[in-house]
Amino acid sequence: PYEVLIVGGGPAGAAASVYAARKGIRTGIAAERFGGQVNDTLAIENFVSVLETDGPKFAAALEAHARAYDVNIMNLQRADKLIPATEPGGLIEIQLANGGSLKSKTVILSTGARWRNVNVPGEEQYKTKGVAYCPHCDGPLFKGKRVSVIGGGNSGVEAAIDLAGVVAHVTLIEFDTKLRADAVLVNKLKSLPNVTILVNAQTTEITGDGQKVNGLSYKDRATEVVHHVELEGVFVQIGLVPNTEWLKGTLELSKHGEIVVDAKGQTSLPGVFAAGDATTVPYKQIIIATGDGAKAALSAFDYLMRLPA
Ligand code: FAD
Repeated sequence: PYEVLIVGGGPAGAAASVYAARKGIRTGIAAERFGGQVNDTLAIENFVSVLETDGPKFAAALEAHARAYDVNIMNLQRADKLIPATEPGGLIEIQLANGGSLKSKTVILSTGARWRNVNVPGEEQYKTKGVAYCPHCDGPLFKGKRVSVIGGGNSGVEAAIDLAGVVAHVTLIEFDTKLRADAVLVNKLKSLPNVTILVNAQTTEITGDGQKVNGLSYKDRATEVVHHVELEGVFVQIGLVPNTEWLKGTLELSKHGEIVVDAKGQTSLPGVFAAGDATTVPYKQIIIATGDGAKAALSAFDYLMRLPA
């Protein structure tokens, strides 16, 4: 059995594996797709100390760093079920979709999250060519340009306020008849001169010139009339979904499905830690996920140290 078994090979899992392996403990990492969301990222300009890189390069560097240590990397493995230890300090089991099973004294869950798609024509085609999901990451790429934000919940309205300070103009599009964000945020948004708010509007298509986004079509749900707005970027903000469906009923999840962790990355189950976008830790960013992975590995080590010999 492993001493530390990490499930998920994104920035959080990779960092956890390096920290665990450097303690000289038996470390394994099972990941459906090593690198995680970073694989789908074009430019990364906010991993402090690395002025600029791109997703595939960063993912390869994560894997190279883990491979530099004695880490058993099991790529293309999806975890299906976690079975808690039957006694304090006992082995925790992770069952894999391929029928296999792995056992470990501690487990670090770092299965990340995925952005919910609007599923309209153009979204897939223009991903990273004007269609974006992370205002902290990609906002500056649209400096002085026109963008829209799809989604009028807290994340959409926050994104619109954030982007309004960087871009020329923001059109916020909400399907419902009113914005669903907190009133303070809505008031702030309404006070901004370069924001247009459209409610009761259904995005029907993201248009482009074949290379990049050049606009967005939406249907006014009251009149059924379809309008087209010219712009250079579309931020989809209709939810970030944690990859934790397989853990339901096993440990404590928040109402959004995030794994509830304390300041040390400890979950509600003894010996099970979690890190990164899959958890309740706010601000889903690479630098935060990596720091979190390091923290979870150190917590797991601390836990192992205290187990009776
Ligand atoms: P993830 O990267 O989501 O990795 C999760 C890992 O778990 C993957 O290996 C996945 O295959 C695996 N996994 C999931 N479920 C299972 C399972 N059941 N069994 C086994 N393995 C599983 N952040 C920035 O800081 N800067 C940026 O410029 C930036 N740009 C971004 C652009 C895009 C398009 C996207 C989508 C995100 C961007 N982000 C950016 C956010 C950043 O990618 C995430 O915050 C970060 O990757 C989170 O790391 P993580 O390790 O927690 O999860």
